[in-house]
Amino acid sequence: ETIGENLHRTVTLFPDREALVVAQQGYRATYAELWEQTGALAKGLLALGVQAGERVGIWSPNRYEWVVTQFGAARAGAILVNINPAYRAEELKYALNQAGCRVLLLAAKFRLTDYQALLEQVRSQCPALEYVLILDDDWDDLLARGNAQPNKLLAEREATLQFDDPINIQYTSGTTGFPKGATLSHHNILNNGYFIGQTLRYTEQDRVCIPVPFYHCFGMVIGNLACVSHGACMVVPGEAFDPLVTLQTVEQERCTSLYGVPTMFIAELDHPAFSSFDLSSLRTGVMAGSPCPEEVMKRVQQLMNMRDVTICYGMTETSPVSTQSYPDDPLEQRVSTVGHVHPHLEVKVVDPETGNVVPCGTPGELCTRGYSVMLGYWNNPEATRAAIDTAGWMHTGDLATISEHGYVNIVGRIKDLIMRGGENVYPREVEEFLYQHPAVLDVQVIGVPSFKYGEEVMAWVKLKDGCTVTGDELRDFCRGRIATFKIPAYWKFVDDFPMTVTGKIQKFIMREHSVQELG
Ligand code: ATP
Ligand code: MG
Repeated sequence: ETIGENLHRTVTLFPDREALVVAQQGYRATYAELWEQTGALAKGLLALGVQAGERVGIWSPNRYEWVVTQFGAARAGAILVNINPAYRAEELKYALNQAGCRVLLLAAKFRLTDYQALLEQVRSQCPALEYVLILDDDWDDLLARGNAQPNKLLAEREATLQFDDPINIQYTSGTTGFPKGATLSHHNILNNGYFIGQTLRYTEQDRVCIPVPFYHCFGMVIGNLACVSHGACMVVPGEAFDPLVTLQTVEQERCTSLYGVPTMFIAELDHPAFSSFDLSSLRTGVMAGSPCPEEVMKRVQQLMNMRDVTICYGMTETSPVSTQSYPDDPLEQRVSTVGHVHPHLEVKVVDPETGNVVPCGTPGELCTRGYSVMLGYWNNPEATRAAIDTAGWMHTGDLATISEHGYVNIVGRIKDLIMRGGENVYPREVEEFLYQHPAVLDVQVIGVPSFKYGEEVMAWVKLKDGCTVTGDELRDFCRGRIATFKIPAYWKFVDDFPMTVTGKIQKFIMREHSVQELG
């Protein structure tokens, strides 16, 4: 099935149910209306002469036009290129040229950043770019132009589309360096969205609060495609994440499900007004994107009424989800592991040196195989070959263990593993331990160069409001409870961590900072 066919099925089943709400824009649409608007957009693109397989970029924070473009471009057979809202001129130029975008839809501005001005700086250096459409000014005209086209034109185009056509270039988060563009088919992302929704038991009664960016697979697949393939409603608080607005939206829209990376849930739980919100409509949700601390999972379950909250693990390159915890899993597994492998996928853990499968419980590199593995990195066969082996396994770069019952535990990224004097230190384990300290709100552990040990352990700590604690006190807290070589030698207290727009903490930047500071 193509994304358009799937949307059509939902429209036929639930034409009058709400499909999309964007609180900040005061926008509401039913499935029938979403069908109309995505059709108008698709025809608008056809009127511009966009061919199947041509690239249409979207550079915008979360707005309703993003969702209409996602489905409209898919119906027209164009390849949507998600452009990171945090990009500035040079990065924008890179993405436009790397993907060869012929059309760009962009917000006029986002917060204080003037997108139009940034584009003007590089537009003359983007030879493939023919049409630039500003969401705020050109949107109505584009839809009107589309509406003036005969339906037959779109029906003809839709009839030529194949489920395994590339439909999307999604960039990775840039947590470990420069983002990479994963090319994904209808089949890749639609099936993944469907199975995620299935695990969450979505029906047309569900209302899913999506405060994570659409530009990233968390928003557009775990969010939008999981909703659409089950007839649920996408509820979007606003352009960018704000804990207060998210809580307000959940209450006002009676959301049944809420998404976030761990730092978002931490910010919501920690908000001074948290306890004033009625979150009784919630039942489930997804925490994903980075290691999900047990403490945070437990608080989300108990204090946010998200009894069935699950953890998803995956990466942009695998559409994204490959493992998920299920509402039926025992609580212990649900808060402390990333669950088990999704239907129709395989996972294995191998010794990164030899490629051999390691015994249950032994850490190694996680590999994924199945329908969800991307077609490849766009225009980068070399990087694709390095990531996907000849047997079709995607090498994730993540270290994991699998228990004998099939529960997967992510112990960290290979790049983040700390090697201290011959001992491996898994940052995740030290972080989990430190979360138990009552003053600690968030903690991130990295390795920094050490003359004596090769690497030393360092912790960056964000404290709860009004709490004070020293590095020595935290060290005493660790003593006798975790092995001495795992106890951080350096402590740094911060208000924030360097982060991607997808809310992921960029440990490589933390390392760069710390290396400079420590000399
Ligand atoms: P880049 O590849 O550009 O450095 P990125 O890997 O963060 O950035 P994404 O594709 O957004 O880009 O994220 C996938 C990665 O996120 C996974 O490889 C894994 O390291 C991490 N991740 C995702 N979900 C989880 C989870 N539930 N627990 C632990 N880590 C997770
Ligand atoms: Mg990655």
